[in-house]
Amino acid sequence: LLTVTGLTKSFGAHRVLDGVDFEVRRGEVVALIGPSGSGKTTVLRSLNGLETPEAGVVSFADGPTVDFSAAVSKADRTALRDRSAMVFQHHNLFPHRTVLQNVTEGPIHAHGVPKAEAAARAEALLARVGLSEKRDAYPFQLSGGQQQRVGIVRALALQPSLLLFDEPTSALDSELVGEVLLALKELADEGWTMLIVTHELAFARQVADEVLFFDDGVIVERGAPKDLFTRPTQERTRRFVDRLL
Ligand code: ATP
Repeated sequence: LLTVTGLTKSFGAHRVLDGVDFEVRRGEVVALIGPSGSGKTTVLRSLNGLETPEAGVVSFADGPTVDFSAAVSKADRTALRDRSAMVFQHHNLFPHRTVLQNVTEGPIHAHGVPKAEAAARAEALLARVGLSEKRDAYPFQLSGGQQQRVGIVRALALQPSLLLFDEPTSALDSELVGEVLLALKELADEGWTMLIVTHELAFARQVADEVLFFDDGVIVERGAPKDLFTRPTQERTRRFVDRLL
C-alpha cells in the first residue's frame, strides 16, 4: 500500500528523521516504538501533510507519489493528506459541536459528501463502537475513552486507506485505556491498515504485524513482534524493550 524511502526532516539544526525507510502492506498493522523524541510522531505527521520533510519519497501503490526533495504541488499535498486520517493523543474534538457534527464535519467540508449521506455514515460508525446514544452529546459530556472512540470514528468517516494513531491511549486514565485498545484491535481485525505510535508494548506485541524501533531519527531495528520483543538483535532495542515490557 505504502512505501516510504529516505524520509528526512530537520527542525533547525536538529535532524529528527534521518533517512527513514519502511513499507506498509494493505491490511497490515505497523507499530512505531522508541524513546521520546526519536521521531515517531514526525513520521506520522509527514505522511499526513502536517510536516514537510526536506527529503524522501512517500509513495502509495495507487498514487500519489510525493518526492519531498523536489517542489511539492498543492495537488500532491492534498492527495497525500486524503489517503490517511490521523487520531491524535488528545482527541481534538470540536468542543462546541455534537458528536455527530464532529464526525460529519470532515466528510462534508473536505470531501463534499452530502449532509444526509455523511450523517448516515456517521451513525452507522457510531453504532459499531456503541456510541449511538451519544450522537447529540457534546464532547465534555463524554468520558475520555468515549471521546477517543469518537476521535477514531471521525477518522474512519473520512474513509482513508491508512489510519495513523499517535499514542492514542497516553492521555487516558489507566482504566480507560483498555476500551480504546479494544477498539483498535477490532479495527485491525476488520482489516484496516494502521500505523500506531505507542508506548503500550504489550498491545503492540498483540496486534502489530511489524514493529519499527526508532531511536535518534532512524529505524534501529524492525521485525515481527515475537522476534523483536523476545530476541532483539540490537543492544539499543534490547535495553528499551527490557525496560518497558
Ligand atoms: P514522543 O514519544 O515524545 O512523542 P516522538 O518519537 O514521537 O516522541 P517526535 O515528536 O517526532 O518524537 O519529535 C522528534 C524531535 O523533534 C523531538 O526532539 C522534538 O522536540 C522535535 N520537534 C518536533 N516538532 C518540532 C517543532 N515543530 N519544532 C522543533 N522541534 C520539533
